[in-house]
Amino acid sequence: MSDEYLIKIEHLAKSFGDLAVLKDISFSVKKGEVVCVLGSSGAGKSTMLRCINRLEEATSGSIFFRDEDILSMQTNVKKYRQHVGMVFQRFNLFPFKTVLENITYAPIKIKHVKKDEAKKIGMELLNKVGLTDKCNVYPSSLSGGQQQRVAIIRALAMEPDVLLFDEPTSALDPEMVGEILEVMKKLAEDGMTMIVVTHEMDFARNVSDKIIFMHDGYIAEEGTPEQIFTEPESEPVRECKMKCVSYR
Ligand code: ADP
Ligand code: MG
Repeated sequence: MSDEYLIKIEHLAKSFGDLAVLKDISFSVKKGEVVCVLGSSGAGKSTMLRCINRLEEATSGSIFFRDEDILSMQTNVKKYRQHVGMVFQRFNLFPFKTVLENITYAPIKIKHVKKDEAKKIGMELLNKVGLTDKCNVYPSSLSGGQQQRVAIIRALAMEPDVLLFDEPTSALDPEMVGEILEVMKKLAEDGMTMIVVTHEMDFARNVSDKIIFMHDGYIAEEGTPEQIFTEPESEPVRECKMKCVSYR
């Protein structure tokens, strides 16, 4: 396996009919790195994440996971997805499963982990985010922040190599944003590789190793938080920063 990157995206393009959403996207993510993706609404951020875990089929380009181009015909998508967890804006928990069932479902069904073992791991993970007492309730009885913590745990239970976050705090009431960012910060400190689409500029600034600004299907700017926040910025980046701030 290459030491250089865990994921390397080369000339990724995606169109929906005539609409070219991703035009030419290239960047890489090293193991343990946190990459924050910023950009105004409609920039193609979700589409890019969805291409990375193959919820969406790219039009052209390559996405290397370790040394395999996962856009190739030979890729076993089901197997590949086990390595790539995803956390959505709107949690997307199974409504008719309890919290613990939400967490153990994929490990049991897809990874064939024994039921008792999956439950044990699930309870340990719930304990880490302070939700052990919620294990037997249904998602609808939880706050948004609690649901999102469960969604993160559900992704972690598969022991992924990388976690993709698509605006994980955008659907939350302001008072719950902090608890999710805390969990994500902890994950980052524990060495989890993460690609995070977010409008939380402070998180991007303080937690990420690299920031990517998407604009008009391209990467308008890419750099360390220091570079992005201190050096003179391009017009799209300035515009985007303004929007990100006013969005909050
Ligand atoms: P972002 O997450 O940055 O707000 P998206 O990736 O959701 O942007 O969307 C980028 C563009 O692609 C938008 O113009 C959106 O309408 C379009 N789009 C996204 N998904 C589809 C789809 N399944 N079919 C057609 N157009 C889509
Ligand atoms: Mg989006």
